Amino acid sequence: MKPIVALVGRPNVGKSALFNRLVQRSLAIVEDVPGVTRDRIYADTEWQGKEFTLVDTGGLTFTGDETMNQLVRYQAETAIREADVIVLVVDGRQGVMPGDRQVADLLRRAQVPILLAVNKGEARTADQAAMEFYELGLAEPLVVSALHGLGTGDLLDHIIAHLPHVVQEETTAGPDRAVRVAVAGRPNVGKSSLVNQLVGQERMIVSAEAGTTRDAVDIACSVDGREYVFVDTAGLRRRARVGEGVEKFGALRALRAVSRAHVVILVLDAVAGVADQDKKIAGYIDEAGRGLVIAVNKWDLVEKKTGTQEKYLEQVRWQLGFVDYAPVVFISALTGQRVKNLLETVDRVAAEHARTMTTAVLNEVVQEATALHPPPSDKGRALRIYYVTQVASRPPRVLCFVNDPERLTDSYQRYLEGRLRQAFGLEGTPLRLHFRKRR
Ligand code: GDP
Repeated sequence: MKPIVALVGRPNVGKSALFNRLVQRSLAIVEDVPGVTRDRIYADTEWQGKEFTLVDTGGLTFTGDETMNQLVRYQAETAIREADVIVLVVDGRQGVMPGDRQVADLLRRAQVPILLAVNKGEARTADQAAMEFYELGLAEPLVVSALHGLGTGDLLDHIIAHLPHVVQEETTAGPDRAVRVAVAGRPNVGKSSLVNQLVGQERMIVSAEAGTTRDAVDIACSVDGREYVFVDTAGLRRRARVGEGVEKFGALRALRAVSRAHVVILVLDAVAGVADQDKKIAGYIDEAGRGLVIAVNKWDLVEKKTGTQEKYLEQVRWQLGFVDYAPVVFISALTGQRVKNLLETVDRVAAEHARTMTTAVLNEVVQEATALHPPPSDKGRALRIYYVTQVASRPPRVLCFVNDPERLTDSYQRYLEGRLRQAFGLEGTPLRLHFRKRR
């Protein structure tokens, strides 16, 4: 399980620029998904052989109607509860601002290591200005420039020096054939309620995972003879028990669970609709190569006329177009409506995620596809696909041997993916196509 490193701080200090720099500088463990451009706030990355998930909390939203001050506070509180290392980002040109002091006051009480990054350090006065930040009483100020990339290697060194020591990964809860499910989504969308609906109290076997700094609790259960493990539900279950309003911060935890799941249920709030952050979480799940089921929760609260659901579905599809392979289920975690159906959908997606496709049929499909719609050509030289074969599953990866990968276009790749999906289904799972020059 990867530790979480969270960037916090006031707006406009350059958190997202620094986030992008750090991801660039380190080794981003991401798939090159063509044609997808989106702002990211989560990235799995690696520095000196140590892996972690970097999060820009500036992209986290909560109820949507909090003031800027509240928002920054919630972001910091989320980091305090859920991150393993926190990097407070401040503006070296502005010096210490009241907002920095407020966040620092919160962070000083945190149990996790805090680093202090003084950004916009390209200014000549930055080193001197950095001294000022000792006053925050947090840590040695590290001068960085997200703009120029200055100091980012140093910051990464400091980050990995503070990562918790994670003992062996992979949990043991539940039988091997169990489907590992993570429930992700923004705060308040109903994740805890859903987990409670899904997991009947009596059937519950709780196993704590040893060796991690934060207690990750996996719940194994069986429903109608099928086995599931709901990964890292600690935050969710605790919160559900203490009731509403006590702890509303689960965004990062649920995120961490993604890396240990086969299938992720992304919970949306039917009343709130698709928020920016939902897109970012969906993008992260897609990059992580997990199966995805979208659950539109609180459907009981939506006034229904004919076509309401179809219209809603259209909206979701439009907003989350880059994960158009994911099935959408309309549920109520409160009443239990279609929760069974949701689980069946999870089963289907888990099977597709683990799918193997025979080489013969794969090649047949690709041949047909190229005959129907020939590959792009550039100055008379066309892309030629010689041979395709599946090289991995979870998610399925297909390797295509071609004359020249340079001739491939994003749109042709998408076309091929579409034909493969038409032929094989592959509902709910990312499909990775790799192109290699045949020697
Ligand atoms: P989490 O932060 O995503 O875990 O959200 P919670 O499970 O704590 O739910 C947030 C609030 O939404 C609580 O007041 C729940 O009772 C309520 N809620 C959750 N699911 C539903 C639902 O399907 N219908 C309705 N009406 N309320 C729900």
